[in-house]
Amino acid sequence: MGWLGIEGHDQVARAFATAADHGRVSGSYLLVGPAGVGKSTFAMALARALVCPRPRPGLEPCGACASCVQAAAGSHPDIDVVEKPEDRATIPLEALIGETAHRMREGLCWRILLAPTVGARKVAIIRDADHLSVEAANCLLKTLEEPPAGAVILLVGTALERQLPTIRSRCQIIRFRPLPADVVGRVLAREHAESGDANAIHAAAAAAGGSLARARLLLDPEVAAFRSRLVELLGRRPVRGVDLAREAIALVEAAGKEAPPRRARLRVVLEAAVDFFRAALRHAVSGETPADPITARILTSTPCEPERAEAALRVTIDALSAVDRNANLMILVDAWTAVLEEPRLETASRA
Ligand SMILES: [Zn+2]
Repeated sequence: MGWLGIEGHDQVARAFATAADHGRVSGSYLLVGPAGVGKSTFAMALARALVCPRPRPGLEPCGACASCVQAAAGSHPDIDVVEKPEDRATIPLEALIGETAHRMREGLCWRILLAPTVGARKVAIIRDADHLSVEAANCLLKTLEEPPAGAVILLVGTALERQLPTIRSRCQIIRFRPLPADVVGRVLAREHAESGDANAIHAAAAAAGGSLARARLLLDPEVAAFRSRLVELLGRRPVRGVDLAREAIALVEAAGKEAPPRRARLRVVLEAAVDFFRAALRHAVSGETPADPITARILTSTPCEPERAEAALRVTIDALSAVDRNANLMILVDAWTAVLEEPRLETASRA
């Protein structure tokens, strides 16, 4: 276990601990790195440590003061979290500076100016910084430039390129790397201590690209079963878009009503489809046999022309990027599966 129970980000943790020990904590940080590696978890742990008035060396919160007790209960009045609502494409302006009628009398930029209640300082976490509109970012600039004494603002985003230059230039950049597969495997093994299948855990950790969130999903039996099924559906000639859509939507809907797990499932489906069409393209171009036995069997019995594989790959990559743009998932699945049907895909490949 690393600092505050966080694994895989020791270097980042040490940088913050050293800064705190030397009284050099900055006012604004931009935490960037791939999805699912634990940036938000880290930001929350960091916030809890930063608000403790009596931290031990190495930025270890004391765990006993009123601030630590409230932080542990998840209800610290001095830790402010703002994120993009599920039904919005960007972080609303009101979340930062309040409704029109109450401009700068509510919202994160106003709250951070208030004196801390029980903590040593105010800490604001802005998740989904990838989705800051130019307007919202402009409202943040002054706060980022001159944060109130002691206050810390943590912005959390994926790629640095997705952040507005005005934001980037005002924050200290902290980079998070994909988690090593052995760390992912260790965490999964701990989570499945009772019922874990060591081989499945190892495979999920290896295929997750350093994302714990993705590894958890790959290990989900329902998702794992669908990935095999998907290869069958994609390998059919012709592809039956309606069947594919129905089964994909059923898998997404089984994740419940919340949008993030639904989106995560669809992402896994589309990523698996990307893998399939990449394998199909390589198979068509160079005769390479796919490593996955089901994919190998299907492509050997019903090979895919290179143009078709390439067009299918392109429309699937487009669909994958639309998942992150907050598109309506059901419409997205319908559109993607319809294009995969032969005649339309021919058109797409000529376009
Ligand atoms: Zn404390």
